[in-house]
Amino acid sequence: MLPSAMHVLIAARCHTEALNVADRRAQQTDVIPLEAWLASIIQCSALGILGKTPEGLITSWNAGAERLYGYSLDEVITQPASLLVPPDHLRDEEEIDRQVLAGGRVDHYETERLRKDGGLISVAVSASPIKDVQGGVVGISAIERDITDRKRAESALSDAEARFKSTFEDAPIGMALVSIDPASTGRLLQVNEAFCELTGYSRAHLETLDLRTLIHPEDVEEEASLLAQLVAGEIHRYEIETRCIHAERQVVWVLVTASLVCDDSGKPLYCIRQTQDIQERKQFAGHLEHLADHDALTGLFNRRRFVRELSRQMSYARRYGEGGAVLFLDLDNFKDVNDTLGHQAGDELIASVAHLLGARLRDTDVFARLGGDEFAVLLPRVGPDEAEAVADDLMQAVRKNPSPTAGRSMPLTVSVGIAPFHADAAVTADDLLIEADLAMYNAKETGRDRLIFASPEQQAQMENRLSWTERIRKALDDEISQYELLLRMPGTGGELLLPASFLYTAERHDLIRGIDRWVVSRAIQLIADARRAGRELCLEVNVSGRSVADPELPGFIVEQLKAASVDPAQLILEVTETAAIGNMDEARRFVATLADIGCRFALDDFGAGFGSFYYLKYLSLDYLKIDGEFIRNLPASTTDQLILRSIVQMANGLGKKTIAEFVGSAESLQLVRAQGVRYAQGYHVGRPRPLTELRAPVAETAR
Ligand code: GH3
Ligand code: MG
Repeated sequence: MLPSAMHVLIAARCHTEALNVADRRAQQTDVIPLEAWLASIIQCSALGILGKTPEGLITSWNAGAERLYGYSLDEVITQPASLLVPPDHLRDEEEIDRQVLAGGRVDHYETERLRKDGGLISVAVSASPIKDVQGGVVGISAIERDITDRKRAESALSDAEARFKSTFEDAPIGMALVSIDPASTGRLLQVNEAFCELTGYSRAHLETLDLRTLIHPEDVEEEASLLAQLVAGEIHRYEIETRCIHAERQVVWVLVTASLVCDDSGKPLYCIRQTQDIQERKQFAGHLEHLADHDALTGLFNRRRFVRELSRQMSYARRYGEGGAVLFLDLDNFKDVNDTLGHQAGDELIASVAHLLGARLRDTDVFARLGGDEFAVLLPRVGPDEAEAVADDLMQAVRKNPSPTAGRSMPLTVSVGIAPFHADAAVTADDLLIEADLAMYNAKETGRDRLIFASPEQQAQMENRLSWTERIRKALDDEISQYELLLRMPGTGGELLLPASFLYTAERHDLIRGIDRWVVSRAIQLIADARRAGRELCLEVNVSGRSVADPELPGFIVEQLKAASVDPAQLILEVTETAAIGNMDEARRFVATLADIGCRFALDDFGAGFGSFYYLKYLSLDYLKIDGEFIRNLPASTTDQLILRSIVQMANGLGKKTIAEFVGSAESLQLVRAQGVRYAQGYHVGRPRPLTELRAPVAETAR
């Protein structure tokens, strides 16, 4: 039973005295009276213990209360307890008092109070009625504990929690808390809005799902293993690019970053997983990758990828003792399609041929567009007979192609070169493709619309491991007879190869610039030699499109001319219309630099392509070399005569000199002269001769 209010009040007020009384009694009786004992407890308690009348006046106040509120006993005694209550809590306090006065107890009521210094403190209050001996309520006793620190900590925690919550919720990237409980590892505990958007599921649905159901089956293993390592403490976080399966089943590439959230003691609670949509970046990267090894027009592999696939197949073949074959296809006279029906129709035809050839091939065959109207097929594990049968079939398919251009009078045909390879072929993929290319070139030379196998001689060269590229490099270093340099290269058997076969290869392998430099410097040398022998020589030299784009070539030519003391006007550089069309800026710079010092320029094959006029407009050229196509049948074709006349008129108007090539008869010579062509060349004017016999300029004046 609690002591009466007055007892407590006295004990509290007469603190030392009460103890003295207790002391004395103890000395007298060895028994501590209840009041003294209670008074002592109350005084020593760290808790604030106070009493008040039913009206709310303070009647007792212990040292704990003094510490709690900062008021001394004297200051508060008989004062209303409401002075300790912040105004906004008064009503609540009154309600509690009412309950207690009605005989009830209030255990652990948390509220705020005012200290003497005006500070607000948090307290936990337990209040009970003080009853007299008859059981009537004569006051209220309250025990109050300071819980300010705890409250502050709690509110700090809840602030942090609130911050976390809002960060989590408002994050622009998908966030999920994932269970790491062994019984439910991977279950989604909580997700944010962005995660819902990214996955296409509702929040409620997601929070019942296992993470694995959202990951692409092929990626599940990887992330499961990373999560296991994270939980085991082997790693602190992980980051992976993985594929998420959207509610509508499409695949979304995401960047996932995950780490653990631990409690204060360091015990892991769950995994926090951030998911960022990287679909666009992936698509872009994929697109670039695709572009790098695919042809944009047909979607087929390009040359680069074909060579890679061929190389892989050849090493596979070497390992498993199998062979195969490469087919090289080039459409016949495809330029006609462009010229007669336009470039777009040409493109459509290329795409439709790609489609119909592809339909004839097996899944295991590798099919590529190498560029322009050229295609290549790799047939793994076939012998020459089967390769020939496939090539035949493809040729038929092209012939019967149902594209819009099929209405032309001539069917579309294709020339095919076949280069078989066997298990122990010691050649590179590049060289094998060149073999097929040269075989195709032979097919063209011998009339087109046919297939030709790479020659045994070429095959033998393959075995000798002397590649075409090496041979050209070697030839560039060799001292070759000066009179044959422009047009011939010695073959391995000492025979002379036609220029077309090696220039063709050189163009493809970027060796053409080396050849062009060599030819130009030989030409300058010849002019200098001729001058020393008392002859003035004008030489025309072809430069390839690649050389026109070579920024160092003009400087090289200038140096060579200077070193040999040759008049630049004796050097005429011939640019092919088709070669340089893609390098207009470089071509202009090239021409301007050399024209400045006096070199002259001719445009080859004028009228053969749609680039001719464009060239004429932008390059300062001296000569137009009219395409032989308009000259060959000149006596028989009035159309050609009309075209020739208009070309000459235009050239004269622009102050350009004209050259007619392919002048094969006296009649032709007569006609070109009549049309006003300035120079003529061709069999009728003079057949090609060794330079040793040269006594006159290359181009002869027609009038
Ligand atoms: P040949 O019988 O000797 O093969 O003669 P060709 O007319 O087919 O000429 P060639 O194979 O040497 O050159 C192919 C031509 O195709 C060159 C160019 O005018 C044209 N060409 C190249 N690429 C494209 C392209 O992407 N689209 C179109 N429409 N034409 C192209
Ligand atoms: Mg062609």
